[in-house]
Amino acid sequence: MAGSFPIRPEVLELTPYTPGLSIDEIQQRFGLGRVVKLASNENPLGTSPQVQKVLRDKAGLAFRYTQSGNPRLVNALAASLGVEPECVVLGNGSDEIIDLLIRVCPTPGVHSVVACQPSFSLYGLQSRFAGVAFRTVPLKNDFSFDWQGLRAAVDESTALVFITTPDNPSGYCPPVEEVRAFAASLPPTCLLVVDEAYIDFCDDMSAHSLLGERASWPQLVLLRTFSKCYGLAGLRLGYGIMPPRLAQLLCTVRLPFSVNILAEEAGLAALGDVTFRQETIATVSYGRVYLRGALEGLGCKVLPSQSNFLMFQLPPSCPLSAKDVFEKLLSQGMIIRPLTSYGLPGHLRVSVGTREENQLFIQLLTEVLA
Ligand code: PLP
Repeated sequence: MAGSFPIRPEVLELTPYTPGLSIDEIQQRFGLGRVVKLASNENPLGTSPQVQKVLRDKAGLAFRYTQSGNPRLVNALAASLGVEPECVVLGNGSDEIIDLLIRVCPTPGVHSVVACQPSFSLYGLQSRFAGVAFRTVPLKNDFSFDWQGLRAAVDESTALVFITTPDNPSGYCPPVEEVRAFAASLPPTCLLVVDEAYIDFCDDMSAHSLLGERASWPQLVLLRTFSKCYGLAGLRLGYGIMPPRLAQLLCTVRLPFSVNILAEEAGLAALGDVTFRQETIATVSYGRVYLRGALEGLGCKVLPSQSNFLMFQLPPSCPLSAKDVFEKLLSQGMIIRPLTSYGLPGHLRVSVGTREENQLFIQLLTEVLA
């Protein structure tokens, strides 16, 4: 009988995640040949040639299940990060680790999760879906973090606080001393989850992460991904670094084989391809400077970014809304990201592309603004 099956109220109330548009759908919608996507902060250089070779060579393994827990990749990652393998949990993207933390730590109706507003939408989506109270604290006007506000939102019910460094969608990266002071202020029952999806793009990565001093922070969880700097977004591979007992619990709850055999092979190859990683970082840091200068040259207000994207506002004199500009660029085959779903309808976000893609974006934006 239609509609008579039970559905949890949290599911009925859920607003789905808003992804960046895909190249295929824009090609079809506008009948375009070439479409450039600078919407989802993917790797401007694509997939490393070494990874592509490994994927071709290993394609015949697709019929096999992986070894449970992907120990080869866990060990390789642990060695490259200088942490114990017991601290590393792999996931089907770091999205899966976010989801696992929310399902493992807070009890629905008892505990709360705290994050900034706006922040990466999955923290709120998965909390609400799990029936866990989700508290948000507005960012400051300059998009820096309101540490006092965050601390005030945390009480004895708070199981997790999420912060993103560098932040999405602003690109802001807090000084590590501020993160340290905030971690020190939290009650011992509250985990601090620092989402470092974009940490590789910081001017000085190690100066912006608490990875090296993990031993001093028993409540610290770090999230990282192969989707950005390692160019594996489509294969879905991310990980968390956390206290071993928590890692063990996440692995107990995780669906078997959520990291597939080709993602594991690709992850191993990507870790080994140091040149590709360096070229990616160089491309992003060059492109970030170029895009910022060119956007400012057009009169846009650009947030300083330590990431592989830039958030900006149109010139005050521009009669078009951010949505209009986004739509006009779309019809020209240039996909960027409107930020309405982040509660920032006047802002746009553009991922750093190749030199040619960045120039094309600026050329099209110049035409639209003219
Ligand atoms: N965290 C942040 C801040 C992100 O922006 C993203 C994706 O864009 C993710 C996590 C998810 O990354 P993954 O592809 O590893 O699931």
